[in-house]
Amino acid sequence: MKIPTTDFFDFHHHTDGKTGGIYNLRYGEPWPPSYFSAGIHPHDIPADTAPHFQWLKEAVLHPRCVAIGECGLDGLIATDEKIQAEIFMKQIEIANEVRKPLIIHCVKRHSALLHYKKTAKVPMVIHGFNNRSTIGEEMMKHNFYLSFGKSVLHHVNLQQFVKVFPADRLFLETDSADFNLAELYETVSSLKGISIETLSGIITNNVQTLLKLTD
Ligand SMILES: [Zn+2]
Repeated sequence: MKIPTTDFFDFHHHTDGKTGGIYNLRYGEPWPPSYFSAGIHPHDIPADTAPHFQWLKEAVLHPRCVAIGECGLDGLIATDEKIQAEIFMKQIEIANEVRKPLIIHCVKRHSALLHYKKTAKVPMVIHGFNNRSTIGEEMMKHNFYLSFGKSVLHHVNLQQFVKVFPADRLFLETDSADFNLAELYETVSSLKGISIETLSGIITNNVQTLLKLTD
């Protein structure tokens, strides 16, 4: 079957100039022509965070900025956990103020995330979800949205989880991986036993619900 290459919403990507998705803006970059998210990634916490927060506060007010992130917690990096927690919490407060959802980067800190979920008054989407289904079920129980990427193409256990994860809380993304997003839509639609058009329609709906996009 011929898989088309366009028109699939890419929930989280790093490809400059791409449309039909949410571009993860880098610090100091000009506002892109597409929808974008802006945040301070736990990997990129600078020694002086003030200018970054200044930038972020401006970015989130932009009408095409639809989410705060990626931001979150990473248990595999050297950055002090207290600093990560503080930077994450500040971004949750910003998201609450501007009423835009959070795109979360989370590595080995999913149980800690539950604590932050109580503070967030906006939806939280864990992007690049590729963890065990026990973690996934826990996240599902606490009303997280999950965005899945390339791992779903290869990991059988993750595929089993995608089968049961509710379609109305699901997004798909390329992140920084180089592959055809249509292939991921194709895989997920067959896992769910629905057509690729139906899946695409559901995700478009999810996007509109989550981001309140009007066009
Ligand atoms: Zn990313």
